[in-house]
Amino acid sequence: MSKSNLYKILLTVAISLLSSIYSYAQENEDTIFQTSIVDALFQGDYDGNITFGELKKKGDFGLGTFNHLDGELVGFDGVYYQVKSDGSVHIVTDSMKTPFAVVAFFEPDEVETIDKPLTCDQFKEYILSLLPTQNIFYGIKVKGAFSYIKARSVPEQKKPYPPLTEVAKEEVIFEFNNINGTFAGFWLPGYLDDINVTGFHFHFISDDEKSGGHVLECTLKNVQLEIDYIRNINISLPDTESFNSANINKTTTGDVKKVEDTNKPTKE
Ligand code: ZN
Repeated sequence: MSKSNLYKILLTVAISLLSSIYSYAQENEDTIFQTSIVDALFQGDYDGNITFGELKKKGDFGLGTFNHLDGELVGFDGVYYQVKSDGSVHIVTDSMKTPFAVVAFFEPDEVETIDKPLTCDQFKEYILSLLPTQNIFYGIKVKGAFSYIKARSVPEQKKPYPPLTEVAKEEVIFEFNNINGTFAGFWLPGYLDDINVTGFHFHFISDDEKSGGHVLECTLKNVQLEIDYIRNINISLPDTESFNSANINKTTTGDVKKVEDTNKPTKE
């Protein structure tokens, strides 16, 4: 083989390697992966067949719940946490499974520092003012100091599973003052009602990994806000008998808003 042919071959190999690395990166960025849909979760479909080992291949950031509805899921920087209804926080193992989770590989397109004492409502208004359009999806990470957070978790359920609107009545509320930590969440447009929680949805973990939950209210002290613009969504429906037979059409948008809205007014 001539030297120039060898160079040509080496160059071709290098280009194809680079392009496959590039397409792998493209594939992994800016896509929300979700297992199941929120309307099925609300009808008591609390047993999924996807493991966290598989889920981690779809994202390093996100939220959701666990089989038997055993607490709130929060993930960022590749680590997933479980906040149980007794308030305890656990690192999620790869063999655990989820009936509903929403994840992405988080890569911020916009970063802002906020050092005003905004309430969750004011904070949401501010974030909305930053979004270039309300027609796409956003991953949102908030890290820093909070003067107040009200969060909740839900207790593990036994079969026959009640609908989520019933379970929500047993939710356990946690209140934290002057706490440092991270929100992982999403803002999704209203046309995704039935598929996911629309508007803002945040889950929280404290820096000491001892507290967390689904965020109900908050007041910021000094945080860094990171927003990831996302234009793709990959919905994978569980191959389970319970999903196939779930009465999905029974779930109303009002049910989801009442239970899942971040910063809902007061507990009923
Ligand atoms: Zn939640």
